[in-house]
Amino acid sequence: MPGQHDSRHTPDLLLTSVRQPGDEICSDVHIRDGLVAAINPSSGKSAASLPGAQGVDFDGRYVIPGLWDEHVHMTQWALTSNRLDLAGAGSAREAAAVVGNYLAGAGLAGEGGATRPASAPTLVGVGFRDAIWTDLPSLDLLDRVTGGLPTALISHDLHCVWLNSAAARTYGVPVDASGLLREEPAFGLTRELGTLPDTVVDPWVRAAAAAAAARGVVGIVDFEMTWNRDPWLRRIAGGCDALRIEAGVYPQDLDRAVAEGLRTGADVAGGRGLLTVGPLKVLTDGSLNTRTAYCVDPYPNGGYGLLTVSEAELLALLVRARQAGFVPAVHAIGDAANRVALDAFEAAGVTGRVEHAQFVRSEDFARFSRLGVIASVQPAHALDDRDTAEANWPGRTDRSFPLRSLVAAGATLALGSDAPVAPLDPWTAMSAATARARQDGRGPWHPEQALTRREALTASARGRGRLRVGDPADIAVLDADPLTVSDTEFAAMPVAATLVAGRFTYGGV
Ligand SMILES: [Zn+2]
Repeated sequence: MPGQHDSRHTPDLLLTSVRQPGDEICSDVHIRDGLVAAINPSSGKSAASLPGAQGVDFDGRYVIPGLWDEHVHMTQWALTSNRLDLAGAGSAREAAAVVGNYLAGAGLAGEGGATRPASAPTLVGVGFRDAIWTDLPSLDLLDRVTGGLPTALISHDLHCVWLNSAAARTYGVPVDASGLLREEPAFGLTRELGTLPDTVVDPWVRAAAAAAAARGVVGIVDFEMTWNRDPWLRRIAGGCDALRIEAGVYPQDLDRAVAEGLRTGADVAGGRGLLTVGPLKVLTDGSLNTRTAYCVDPYPNGGYGLLTVSEAELLALLVRARQAGFVPAVHAIGDAANRVALDAFEAAGVTGRVEHAQFVRSEDFARFSRLGVIASVQPAHALDDRDTAEANWPGRTDRSFPLRSLVAAGATLALGSDAPVAPLDPWTAMSAATARARQDGRGPWHPEQALTRREALTASARGRGRLRVGDPADIAVLDADPLTVSDTEFAAMPVAATLVAGRFTYGGV
């Protein structure tokens, strides 16, 4: 039942000696019933002056409204977080060493090989680039470091899987002395590796949620491509309560969602106030890296990308969403796709969000605010895709990842990661948005499109720039001032504590 775990019976909380970024003086933040009840200059008095309140002294640390990741694929992120990263391996021998060291660190290695704990799934590694290796992978090389633990390593381009003998046995796939599967058999096994029982995945999701809370995150919009309500009800009932979840719905499930009385923003009964219905996710085009983002101008090698839904179908879907009380979140990456999406919002007379908005015609910047369409953007992609964008949108990247242009035209931004494409860490996203550079010596990319720190923080906290009385007590406590630290420190901001509705989900007491 909603309200079942209502915070009414928890004692008041007093966060003492905290500062809002930009403030000279320290404040005490009084939390009652899950809300910010008062913010007063620090009195120096202990919490005892507030009868019944529990006091936590933060010694001058900085408080900001808790952070949201507005675009996550949470199950995929949890799977990725539990896969061994082999991107740095310069040879087959090195990749095997990474696996061996990992197993040793996890206490799973042993002479004659690791044995598989009954509950442990196959060890999966990802991201190796055998095209640049000078030595060859082999069954024997991998067997020597893994022993009896089924191990499958997936290449960066997904076209190849390197197995050990135990995995070949477990999955019933024949491999020769190379230990390699390629193309169809590799795709088939990769799909199978992604299909794990809930009893394995749920604890991983819970760990990923806890890791997000440790970065100051209080909520996510989950766009996992599935019927999201029931997995989250199960996880929350099982104690996964570190984040607020807005569970997205896909068009193939819209009839079911309507039949069950769901609409965007509705609290999901049984979700302990942590689970609400998210937007209706609608795809209109592909991606830049596959050159399927739908564009006004042709790609250098020809073609305009792919419009995956007709304009008439998109309009019909948005009208349906409006009638059913769903906020549409329309995936649009190319500038033609963004034009199509905005046209559909305008024609349907509905507000909502564009997911990605990576490449936008100049004449469309102002339409976001005029139509009440939020630009849900993932700034880390700008740095990941820098070279690809220059190659495919030559001479036009001044309007790619156009954060400043959108803000200048009045648009509201919502920052996210698109995890697992980028890590579920808003400091990575905010760092990319503000510095437009990595610490790789290359210098910033289109720095004129950067946000200020304040803008990035506000766009990561649902428009809340500061803690205000009456707001939900969703709060992150930082060890440093996010407005004045260096770019490097900002990207790795140390978080001291996180609260959701006045409850510590990380740090604190
Ligand atoms: Zn996505």
